[in-house]
Amino acid sequence: MFRKILIANRGEIALRILRACRELGVRAVVAYSERDRDSLPVRLADESICIGPAAISQSYLNIPNIVSAALVTDCEAIHPGYGFLSENPYVAEICDSYGLTFIGPPPAILEEMGSKARARYLMRQAGLPVLPGSEEPVASVVEARELAAAIGYPVLVKAVNGGGGKGMRLVHNDAEMLRLYPLAQVESETAFGRSELYVEKCLTGARHIEIQILADSAGRVIHLGERECSLQRRHQKILEETPSPAVSETLRNELGQAAVSGARAIQYAGVGTFEFLVDSDARFYFIEMNMRIQVEHPITEMVTGVDIAKWQIRLASGEPLGLAQEDVRMNGHAIECRINAEDPERAFLPDIGTIREYVPCGGPGIRVESHLYPGYQLAPEYDSLLAKVIAWGGTRHEAILRMDRALDELVLNGVKTTRPFHQRLLKDAAFLNGRTNINLVESYL
Ligand code: ADP
Repeated sequence: MFRKILIANRGEIALRILRACRELGVRAVVAYSERDRDSLPVRLADESICIGPAAISQSYLNIPNIVSAALVTDCEAIHPGYGFLSENPYVAEICDSYGLTFIGPPPAILEEMGSKARARYLMRQAGLPVLPGSEEPVASVVEARELAAAIGYPVLVKAVNGGGGKGMRLVHNDAEMLRLYPLAQVESETAFGRSELYVEKCLTGARHIEIQILADSAGRVIHLGERECSLQRRHQKILEETPSPAVSETLRNELGQAAVSGARAIQYAGVGTFEFLVDSDARFYFIEMNMRIQVEHPITEMVTGVDIAKWQIRLASGEPLGLAQEDVRMNGHAIECRINAEDPERAFLPDIGTIREYVPCGGPGIRVESHLYPGYQLAPEYDSLLAKVIAWGGTRHEAILRMDRALDELVLNGVKTTRPFHQRLLKDAAFLNGRTNINLVESYL
């Protein structure tokens, strides 16, 4: 096990990783921007080190500063959390050359699977079903139109190096392709510094269902069941649950098997997630792999009792996976609501301000992952996630009632939040009946 690691992230995930380190007896150094000097992870860390000004390009994305911070504080590894540098092959490579462990897969896997077109190719080779589309970046709008003609509209034009729904456009016909292709290109260039796009058949009314896997470097791979993430706005998840109301035992085994074979095929090691779209006939298609800890990991922890954050660190340190597939049991139901500083009344416009009052909700079955405290000042540079409220129940019904109760109880004043939207969703008939799909939220809005 590592003696000391650097956490190169902020907010709730820095805190989550810090807590995992504490329980593993690993010393943790939190790397922070000037803006985050007074943050909770910094206050609770064993040590902390400033890596630059508030702007993410100068701090949380500043590779030289982060690597130097790890070296001067005598860390053995860097934990990138999610977002920022978490799937960046160059950081992983630089870590290797300085004798630091990057807590994530090796650079070659990050490079290959980070190209979503290449990932589709590799997973198809591994026997996973993928939607019709391109397995290499498309060269031009002309080629995109030819592909769309071959697979049939509607299609999605997606950023090869995309994430967070950026650089993605739904295209219904040739005229739209001419207009939207350059927009997706610019958006991708701005967000990811690379403008390559690929084309994929669009599946309407599908569900987003993902499988969490754990893998060690000796080739042992298991899965921890699914997460239902169909409730999304602009391709961004807002509420997740497990198990999925739409997944039978048979489908769970099939999805789990697909994810495990996918991971084996690329000799993946660490924690990872295989994302699938599932249609109304329970046919599923691989869309992408996330090679990091995910925002929604706690719901899986709640139903399986497996601490994913701790396993990620253990696996990176070379510990063998001490769990077999038969050891994994799903108990009860868990739901997560992402409470963002956004105004649902004004098209989810991000809100900025100071948290005046904050009292987290609690009681049976409730877990809150948050870096907030009264007086906390939101910064315009960072994302709007304030708190993740996670509710566990013996049944889906109980988990929903508990979430409803917990959201009522939560005291969070000073900025507009998405809580009222979650409260409405929890009472929505389609949600209550488990009839969700990726288009539900948009149609509801
Ligand atoms: P990102 O990496 O930007 O999050 P993903 O490929 O994971 O992009 O897709 C994000 C979301 O976009 C999915 O959860 C789904 O709702 C939607 N989506 C992606 N691909 C398709 C598709 N082929 N058909 C329909 N919806 C899709």
